[in-house]
Amino acid sequence: MSFRVVADLDICQGHQMCQAEAPSVFGFDEDADVVLVLDEHPDESLRPQVEAAVTYCPAFALAIEKLDTTVEETR
Ligand code: SF4
Repeated sequence: MSFRVVADLDICQGHQMCQAEAPSVFGFDEDADVVLVLDEHPDESLRPQVEAAVTYCPAFALAIEKLDTTVEETR
């Protein structure tokens, strides 16, 4: 099952904890001082890292969106 990473840039405070937890998924926009989602649809094997990033984000700016398997993708 696939999932999507969602970052709320309005509440991101630039702590960069997410990068430490999942460096292949989260980068950092130095100019805007907010998280940069490098991989919106990470491989399932990265889920534990992404879940840790969501848990430890001090601003609660991250979320995992489960892709609804009952909806067929047309792509
Ligand atoms: S840990 Fe949270 S607040 Fe910090 S950069 Fe990542 S998303 Fe933003």
